[in-house]
Amino acid sequence: MNERKTIHLVEDSDTQALKLEILLQDAGYDVERSANAEQALECLRRKRPGLVILDYHLPGISGVELCRQIKMRSGIESVPVLLLTQEDEADVERRGLESGADDYIRKTVDDALLLARVESLLRSSRNSPFLSPNNTEHFRSQTILLVDDSVTYLTFLEHELESEGCRVLKATNGRDALSLIEKSVAQSTATQGCDRDEIDCIILDLVMPKMDGIELCRRLDVIRREQHRSLPILMVTSQEAKDEMMRALEAGADDFVKKSNDTVILRARIRALLRRKLLHDEHERILAQFRRKELEVVQAQTERAAALKQAALAKELEAANCELKETQSQLVQSAKMASLGALVAGIAHEINNPLSYSLSHLRRIADNLERFGRELCDIGAAPDMTRLEKAKQRAAQAVEGLERVADLIVKLRSFSRRDKGEFKLANVQECIEATLPIVRHRCTGNRKLVVEHAEDSVLYCAPGLINQVILNLLTNALDAIGEAGEVCVATVRTDKMFRLSVADSGPGIPDEVLERIFEPFFTTKDVGKGTGLGLAVSYQIIDRHKGSIDVRNRAAGGAEFIVELPLNLAEQISESRTAA
Ligand code: ADP
Repeated sequence: MNERKTIHLVEDSDTQALKLEILLQDAGYDVERSANAEQALECLRRKRPGLVILDYHLPGISGVELCRQIKMRSGIESVPVLLLTQEDEADVERRGLESGADDYIRKTVDDALLLARVESLLRSSRNSPFLSPNNTEHFRSQTILLVDDSVTYLTFLEHELESEGCRVLKATNGRDALSLIEKSVAQSTATQGCDRDEIDCIILDLVMPKMDGIELCRRLDVIRREQHRSLPILMVTSQEAKDEMMRALEAGADDFVKKSNDTVILRARIRALLRRKLLHDEHERILAQFRRKELEVVQAQTERAAALKQAALAKELEAANCELKETQSQLVQSAKMASLGALVAGIAHEINNPLSYSLSHLRRIADNLERFGRELCDIGAAPDMTRLEKAKQRAAQAVEGLERVADLIVKLRSFSRRDKGEFKLANVQECIEATLPIVRHRCTGNRKLVVEHAEDSVLYCAPGLINQVILNLLTNALDAIGEAGEVCVATVRTDKMFRLSVADSGPGIPDEVLERIFEPFFTTKDVGKGTGLGLAVSYQIIDRHKGSIDVRNRAAGGAEFIVELPLNLAEQISESRTAA
């Protein structure tokens, strides 16, 4: 025995109780005892034993009544009950079994037989709290297999059991019985236990030719163990010999009854066996249901976990996708800038040379025209002053035009990074102050320029380049406000950033323009007024500072450009140099 099982003994006689207790404990069981039914019910309520052994005669509530109460109590109704009595009358046994007792044994019985019965009852007991209430109509629609070589006894018993409403199958030898059982088991498996013809109980004769009852019992026991089926086996024999009973019980029989013409006891024993089978089947059904539910819960949990994982993955994927798109557009932007930079640098270089000498020659021509005019007057010649003035004017206009081209070339060169700019610690406030005089002439009348400086404006940057950014942003803001409005330049220093913003009260920037403002040569200004390079150049300059430039339309109207410059640029540059 692997695990010690508890037996609850209800016995009023101390001597009897002690004797039984010693016998059971020696056999390896734990024994608890109550002296009367009331005490027993209280103990059983607290702790469910594997078996209850009851004295038929108890003071107060009788053993039969106690048995009935046990079988009616939820939670302990499936505990097998073994009734003990000194009586040797069939009626006592019948009453005991009909009260729900699972077995009946006389106190005078041999110790070994008592222990065999106890073990047989415990074997069939299942420690389940889920068993259903008693069913008193066990004979109804039950199928019983009778195995006996005596056709007379078979017919007699068949008649008796059919009169109780049972369906009876018969076999006159062990082989036929086994094939009937195997067929029943196969059918029941195919119909998942819903087979009406499933055999519920086997009654077999001990003495049979070829395969005797003991051998058949052993084989049946193997089948029911393999198939996890509750299949009660009741052995019947002509004589009640102790050794035979012991062998039968050891072979797996659940009960042993002496053949008699009076079938009262036999029927009571069959009832008790069927009751146990019903409880067992119910227990199995509930267990299976319980396992199914557990499986469903596990499945639901697994599915939920998988769904959550999938959702998390989808989220991660979406984030990665966004990041990828952003990186891609940045790459496209910088690739565009790089190729344009190279192109622009080439063109600027090609234009710059002829432009330089054309401009210097033109300036010389304009100066000479002036001088020649004066000299001709001095020597008394009378030149056509109107034509001379026109020529001077045209030369001056040509100089102005070429100077504009030269200015454009300067911008193109800085766009193409020809003007690298020197990085050093510089005061951005000074950069702003240096730029203001250039645009101050435009801040007249209804145009107002406000400047708010951060307390500390010193940071590592290329001040020449930062000047350009400020000038570009201020020029655009003044263009945007037209004849009236306000432009505000403000700087703020945070823990990690230096922020420069230029806000205006102009019309703001429409969405379709907003998308393109950093593109080189994109301009909405008139020909000759805009080059579309101011913001593209500014973008590159800020990029070189490892900062950011952003634009938004203000809720109050107008646009605001925000430049953020990192305060640790010097460290970043030296780190990247070390890494390289
Ligand atoms: P440009 O000034 O030569 O046109 P920019 O690159 O400086 O070139 O500007 C590109 C375009 O961005 C401008 O033509 C204008 O449409 C728009 N823009 C820039 N700043 C502002 C502003 N403050 N308000 C409205 N639009 C602006």
